[in-house]
Amino acid sequence: MKKNIILMGPPGAGKGTLAKQLLKAFPFVHISTGDMFREAIKAQTELGKLAQSYIARGDLVPDEVTIGLVRERLSQDDCANGFLLDGFPRTLPQAEALEKLCEEIKRPIDSVVNLDCDNEELIRRISGRRVCKICGAPYHIITMKPKVEGVCDACGGPLFQRPDDNEEALKVRLDHYVHDTKPLLEFYDRRNLLVNFNSLVGSEQLFDEVRLYLEK
Ligand SMILES: [Zn+2]
Repeated sequence: MKKNIILMGPPGAGKGTLAKQLLKAFPFVHISTGDMFREAIKAQTELGKLAQSYIARGDLVPDEVTIGLVRERLSQDDCANGFLLDGFPRTLPQAEALEKLCEEIKRPIDSVVNLDCDNEELIRRISGRRVCKICGAPYHIITMKPKVEGVCDACGGPLFQRPDDNEEALKVRLDHYVHDTKPLLEFYDRRNLLVNFNSLVGSEQLFDEVRLYLEK
């Protein structure tokens, strides 16, 4: 069985849904860097305080701080049964540092699960997303229609489109994503860790395929 997993995929490919399904089926700990930052800052660890000082100034947290936090988190006992890294690494230097620290703590990465999805389909999916202004419930104008157009089933609130969910903004986000992650995918491919899954098959089938693969 594969235990220590990196989950990758462009915005809209269904990463969030897949992560939830996997966390129910496997004893993995979910490691998202956003949550990790919030926890470290709340606990006021040394690295948490350091990260906070950058965030408070509006600066990006430097790699060595982020990697220090990842090391702290992955070393904890609850990660002994496996972890699912989500949103990290984002760059090649981060991937190299992660490889080194995983060796040091003897919890090597077993697999990199990458969700493939063609850009047109992603744009179709994301530009159809609508969200309730009042309760935040998600809808889709094709695949998850509300009973009454533009009105939330749950609370009657108005549905709206997030400003960054439009086609133009999405194209930019996807171009950035492809540009930024290509070297990472090549890095993991060279180590025979990369496995691509087509996320167009739908969330249930995608989950089944990934689960079967990880169980091997
Ligand atoms: Zn609502």
